[in-house]
Amino acid sequence: MTSRTGPALVVTGHGGRDVLAVEERPAPAPGPGEVLVEVTAAGVNFIDVYQREGTYPVATPFVAGNEGAGTVVSTGEGAGGLAPGARVAWPQTLGSAARYVVVPASEAVVVPDGVDLETAAAVMLQGLTAHYLTTSTYAVRPGDVALVHAAAGGVGQLLVQLVRARGGVVVATAGGPEKCAAVRELGAEHVVDYRAVEDLAAEVRALTGGRGVDVAYDGVGKDTFDASLASLRPRGTLALFGAASGQVPPVDLQRLNAGGSLFVTRPKLLDHVATRDELEWRAGEVFGAVADGNLRVTIGGRYALTDAAAAYADLEGRRTRGKLILIP
Ligand code: NDP
Repeated sequence: MTSRTGPALVVTGHGGRDVLAVEERPAPAPGPGEVLVEVTAAGVNFIDVYQREGTYPVATPFVAGNEGAGTVVSTGEGAGGLAPGARVAWPQTLGSAARYVVVPASEAVVVPDGVDLETAAAVMLQGLTAHYLTTSTYAVRPGDVALVHAAAGGVGQLLVQLVRARGGVVVATAGGPEKCAAVRELGAEHVVDYRAVEDLAAEVRALTGGRGVDVAYDGVGKDTFDASLASLRPRGTLALFGAASGQVPPVDLQRLNAGGSLFVTRPKLLDHVATRDELEWRAGEVFGAVADGNLRVTIGGRYALTDAAAAYADLEGRRTRGKLILIP
């Protein structure tokens, strides 16, 4: 169907970053309901790390990457109205870290004119995540206080802004003075350098006049879970949405009783874009906010595919701010 070839980031076996290799591959052919996309940028995400390491099972070898944006070059039958030349983005299609990827039309959304493709790739997975966390997992109301961990990170920066856009107050955490300054600039009311405090929950309680927060958004996991739980007000909600520091070990549910009838949930994006309507609603709101200048997307680094190992080293090593993208 096509004689195009291009580089692809291949995970040759489960393991560390040394299993990554760039290979020249023929562009795959789109089947019914699919489109072939020339990728402008692919997002760098923790899910890529979990898949590479084998925590989330994917048989090797496979092409890495889940998120991206680019231009449709050809379509299979019944591609949902998408035609060559369409600018599209998608949050979770495996194989996105490549010049060419086949994307199910049902997983792609059209990128509006006011949003460039690099920004679209940067905001898809993390923007949709911050959106469902603040609208569905715990719908932030005016005056609510939200604890946001790793607030200088990809999801974190977007969470800070979306909580504030809904009238909430943010207690943010970040590692080190530079990251804390970046979070302050985004408008977080309180910023705690959690590498510098002994008792994070006590600090959060002090900042909330002893009351605790209505919701804790925790993508750090093992290292912050206990403090997140101890920071909640009675009947507060802990949304544990990731494990950047490692998985949280099993929890005694009596702790939820002792803490004051607490709620804990472990949500994931796929369950919140399960229908076409929901995907389009969330993507529409995120892209709309970006285009209107109400949601700032910080691209913290652009890497060639051949430098992907360095991008993941930076992400896994806590050296990044905002979002990293790969340019294939
Ligand atoms: P970030 O850009 O937030 O990077 C992770 C940050 O976590 C680091 O920069 C660091 O910030 C902090 N961190 C704390 N401890 C560690 C550690 N031991 N190792 C590495 N980082 C650490 O990443 P993302 O925005 O891409 O993802 C954040 C979390 O959200 C991840 O856990 C990811 O899996 C999850 N996620 C979940 C989704 C879902 O639907 N459930 C969807 C998307 C992401 P600092 O230096 O400030 O401590």
